[in-house]
Amino acid sequence: MAIFASTMEKFGHEQLIFCQNRDVGLRAIIAIHDTTLGPALGGTRMWPYETEEEAIVDALRLSRGMTYKAAAAGLNLGGGKAVIIGNPKTDKSEALFRAMGRFVESLQGRFITGEDVGVDVNDVEYMYLETRYVSGLSRARGGGGDPAAVTAFGVWQGMRACGQEKLGSDSLEGLTVAVQGLGNVGFHLAKLLIDRQIKVIGADIDEEKVRRAVDQLGIEEVKSDEIYQVQADIFAPCALGAIINDATIRQFKFKIIAGSANNQLQEDRHGDELDRRGILYAPDYVINAGGLINVFVELEGYERERALRMTRGIYYNLRKVFEIARREKIPTSQAADKLVEQRIAMVRQLKSIYTGQGIHRIRAK
Ligand code: NAD
Repeated sequence: MAIFASTMEKFGHEQLIFCQNRDVGLRAIIAIHDTTLGPALGGTRMWPYETEEEAIVDALRLSRGMTYKAAAAGLNLGGGKAVIIGNPKTDKSEALFRAMGRFVESLQGRFITGEDVGVDVNDVEYMYLETRYVSGLSRARGGGGDPAAVTAFGVWQGMRACGQEKLGSDSLEGLTVAVQGLGNVGFHLAKLLIDRQIKVIGADIDEEKVRRAVDQLGIEEVKSDEIYQVQADIFAPCALGAIINDATIRQFKFKIIAGSANNQLQEDRHGDELDRRGILYAPDYVINAGGLINVFVELEGYERERALRMTRGIYYNLRKVFEIARREKIPTSQAADKLVEQRIAMVRQLKSIYTGQGIHRIRAK
């Protein structure tokens, strides 16, 4: 695999680190994409990758996604990601995560990590025994706990911005929202909507999740393969990635797509297709940044109020994206990337101003 030419140079990654400890069975890769805005932050994923190449590609791809998410949220964080090659059901141990924690510590704050697929709060707490550079701890340890409610609140703010842009009002009262996935984020989001007299049609492949939302919130349920065709103003994907694709787009009667799922567009061209059809798309990494903001606030000393206050900013971040899209006549998915690239370029330019911190090194020469 041509790592430099095929990905690191092409996408601007800074660093790729391989971590190995045979005694505890650790094989991990840390990818640092861009630290212009601040330390690279991103979760640690544990997955039984079939090949090393698959693990490397995942770390590189996910770390780049984190740069974009943090930059769009206005945070002073860069993008990184770690992957541990292994089966989270059978290969986890205290030693494995403490070893991983030591590798993270060795980077001295260039990389800060936390939970991701296959890695839960208990695993993060083992890492925390060896490094300060973790976030996403339990509330009992002074952390922010489960970020789903904050993520849902951010999606609500983003939906309001979409309403303002597409329908001329951000109240959304009387509208109908189709929520795909009634798990952690989907349930909180459905509750926020129902509390504001917005009708919710929901679907989940897990019957228990559907029952909970119907019984506790009074949502209307549909089968999971019917959610794409329901008559609703807004579609909120809160389950899986790649659900905006050739097969689903042609079923949409929605005016707006605004949900928490990561990587909603199967391919970039699907963002262009939504634009052609006049469907306003809230780029996923801008609207679902509430969880990341929650983790960021934890780094400064967690306060829920501050996390929610910062998450309200998603409304304005999306308004900026829509403004770029309108001005440059481009789809919102492309406008979001522009917003990020402009912010990183601005900070990179600022760093050309010498602030004097290198004086000791100069004297020592
Ligand atoms: P979750 O696992 O609690 O919920 C996902 C739900 O989707 C589950 O109930 C699952 O049964 C359901 N589902 C799976 N396939 C489905 C299908 N085909 N049709 C309908 N339902 C289906 O996860 P979550 O924490 O609620 O996260 C939801 C999405 O938002 C994920 O894509 C996640 O990556 C993203 N996200 C979450 C957060 C957060 O704070 N939790 C932050 C940013 C992004």
